[in-house]
Amino acid sequence: MSLAATKDTLKQRGIRLTRQRQLLLELIDQSGKHLDAESLYQMAHERDPKLNRVTVYRTLKLLKEGGLVDELDLLHYGGDQHYYETRTKQEHAHIVCLRCGKVEEFFGEVLQRLRRQIEATFGFQIVVARTEIGGYCAHCQVLRAQEMSESRATDELAAAGGRAQRA
Ligand SMILES: [Zn+2]
Ligand SMILES: [Zn+2]
Repeated sequence: MSLAATKDTLKQRGIRLTRQRQLLLELIDQSGKHLDAESLYQMAHERDPKLNRVTVYRTLKLLKEGGLVDELDLLHYGGDQHYYETRTKQEHAHIVCLRCGKVEEFFGEVLQRLRRQIEATFGFQIVVARTEIGGYCAHCQVLRAQEMSESRATDELAAAGGRAQRA
């Protein structure tokens, strides 16, 4: 969605695109990442020191209600915070590493196919679909294997120590 289209959408909903709202939209859009409210506040505050936390949180809520921004929980890998992205992109699934928090985006025709199948099967009109997949990235799989063999080695040492003491 272009900025002009965004303004139209907001106007239809009776929301004015103030400078602060525009700044937040731009930050979310340009980051290309999934930022939480606190990071967005920090970035916005750097650009406009007059912006306070309450305004940023309120603006995020407004942008979300206006349908311009999606709020994600990304399987709560990082706790309770939510993450934001603009609705400009094509539908995609989020692949979340539960260890390092890396988020990948999967775009694929299969998502549209799933949507169509669900609509056909249930006679349902889908408004919002969110696919989140949690697991371990390739890098973390290696680290996890190391950690597990290390903790196994520690357990074995402890067990051997116990046997030695009993002997
Ligand atoms: Zn990872
Ligand atoms: Zn995304």
